[in-house]
Amino acid sequence: MSFHPGALKSAATILSRTIRPRPPVRVSEWVAQNIVLVDGPDAGALWSPRGAPYLVEVLDCLGDAHPCNLVSVRKSQQTGASIAALAWALYIADREPANVLYAVPGIEAYRDLNSGKLHPLIEAMQRRSGVRLIRPQVSRSGDGSKTDEKVFVRGGRLWLANAHSVMDLSSKTARKGIKDELSKWQPIPGAQDPEDLFFGRFTAFRGSGEWKILEISTPEYDTGDPLGEKPGHCRIDRSFKRSDQRFWHIACPECGTVQYQRFERFRVDEASPHRSRYICEGCQHEISEAERRLALQPEAGAQWIATSAGPDRHPGFHIDAFCSLMMSYEAIAEDWLKARGSEIGLKGFTNLVLGLPFAFRGDAPDHEKLLARRESHLVQGHVPHDALIITAHADVQMRGVWLEIVAWTPDRRSYLVDAQYLGGDTDTHTAKVFERLRRETIDREFPDAFGRMRRLDAFGIDAGYRQHVVASFVRANQTMHPDTGADVVFALKGEDGWGRPPLGLPKLIDIDLGGNRKIRQGAKLWTVGTWPLKSSLYTQLSKERVNTNFADIPAGYCHFPGWADEEYFKQLTAEHLVDVMVRGVPTGKRWARLREDNHFLDCRVGNLALFEHLTTGASPEQWAALARRRGLPDEALRQDLFTTAAVGGAGSAPPIEKTTQANSPRLADDWLGGRGDRWFNRQD
Ligand SMILES: [Zn+2]
Repeated sequence: MSFHPGALKSAATILSRTIRPRPPVRVSEWVAQNIVLVDGPDAGALWSPRGAPYLVEVLDCLGDAHPCNLVSVRKSQQTGASIAALAWALYIADREPANVLYAVPGIEAYRDLNSGKLHPLIEAMQRRSGVRLIRPQVSRSGDGSKTDEKVFVRGGRLWLANAHSVMDLSSKTARKGIKDELSKWQPIPGAQDPEDLFFGRFTAFRGSGEWKILEISTPEYDTGDPLGEKPGHCRIDRSFKRSDQRFWHIACPECGTVQYQRFERFRVDEASPHRSRYICEGCQHEISEAERRLALQPEAGAQWIATSAGPDRHPGFHIDAFCSLMMSYEAIAEDWLKARGSEIGLKGFTNLVLGLPFAFRGDAPDHEKLLARRESHLVQGHVPHDALIITAHADVQMRGVWLEIVAWTPDRRSYLVDAQYLGGDTDTHTAKVFERLRRETIDREFPDAFGRMRRLDAFGIDAGYRQHVVASFVRANQTMHPDTGADVVFALKGEDGWGRPPLGLPKLIDIDLGGNRKIRQGAKLWTVGTWPLKSSLYTQLSKERVNTNFADIPAGYCHFPGWADEEYFKQLTAEHLVDVMVRGVPTGKRWARLREDNHFLDCRVGNLALFEHLTTGASPEQWAALARRRGLPDEALRQDLFTTAAVGGAGSAPPIEKTTQANSPRLADDWLGGRGDRWFNRQD
């Protein structure tokens, strides 16, 4: 047997590569030499610290050379930080073989991790280096499906786990772990908390201290607990609060003051978001986007600085849109302008852009305070001068109907136009009370401040109590909006839970006419996401006037007329947010009644849902065009009506300084005045 000399040589090379200890390398260096980006604008290129300089220190904390056991990363989206977890897993496979447990919340996230993220990354890296790190898999079932275990060629293995599965978090012994999207981990019914189950896998290494865990996530809910220890508090925020709390600091290009950027000092230019600036806390210099991009690099002085020192504190990193090179001041400003109108929008902005947990508003406003600030000049049934849209909502009970009518301004202020109780049995849609309801809503004309008559733009009826009666009423009384051709009358049904839109997609339902007569799919039923809307309403109700100047009234302010009585305000504030208890432990929040009658609260939530549905995404130009269609005189149009002031101050969303606008809004007539089925062009 003889060997070709070339073959011998290459065998020797491979042998020496395997036996000779490789020089130590920092994790960030290894990632820069080996990890190929598989998506985004730089797909196909090697990961570079230039694109995410803040990740270098995060990665280096993950190597065995660093003494820490735990690393927390509280992050927003669009930061490139997610690569840290995946890249570390591959670094372990190549350089520090060990068993790794990688857990994500839910089966969808699990599938996405396995086939959507991990596999492309492994393939790209192995293709580039020609080195195989993971043994080829032989599926146990033989169908070629991807299994949940990757065996490393150099020793150790990677288990992918669903953090909501007790089975996945059991009977494995790991030395390294990744808790991905930690804030979405949910309690498992009848089992230990998944974080406890996860940590149980590390028991064997706790004595020697040779374990290491990365916790990484965008945040979720803020319970208001400053230490974040309260159960139900955002998990990554809790982890970050226990850490040394590092922020990526930059040096001001003008005065050199070292600081980290926070939303409070960000100045949004509403008219031209690309002119938004950051105000230096040292010299008030307005840092531009071009200056920010330079300042974020280490050679310009950018660095991690721990803000909460202490011997027991592990490395914790906050990464948000302000330090991300994938984001810009313009993008942050645009996201803010889009989000600020609703509680759900603010939650998204706070979590996904600022990388902070969000607190929903849930304390019931004081009804006596609202009673005391009524405005006696407002006339029942009349539309005030600055209101452009009118909605009505009816709450159908067994022996009567509660009805509320609200007029809305472009900056989301609301005027109570009418509130009534119409008595009478509601067992059929032809009952007397429904004739009256029609007169008070669909057939009614509302005088405005300019001597014109207006009609309802949308009318919602709660179908939760008598679905068939309400569906029949809607079918028999449907009218088409003269401007848009859309339905004016909506059958609505409230839905519990967070994360629901104001109005969901309509569902077609049958109408039961009695005596075996049915109209198949005869009516549309729309769901209302009541929980976030109640939070939005309570935020609006808590807004106060700072002076008597009309122009200074905050956006979203609720105007109430002198004729509204105490009963109305008691119902409007009849619920508050309470902890959901599971076996004596709070696990979340839900709405609960403070008082028996809450009909006007339900009415206002329905009205808010309709207003959101009609106006989400409308631009100042579109509002101006609508105002002209509604016959508002030029004097009214010249007011600062369409430059909506910031709606900050909700939950943890910080306040914002408003810039003055150089130009009054352009009056472009590009509103969908034709027969489109929507009021405005939607942006989403
Ligand atoms: Zn400065």
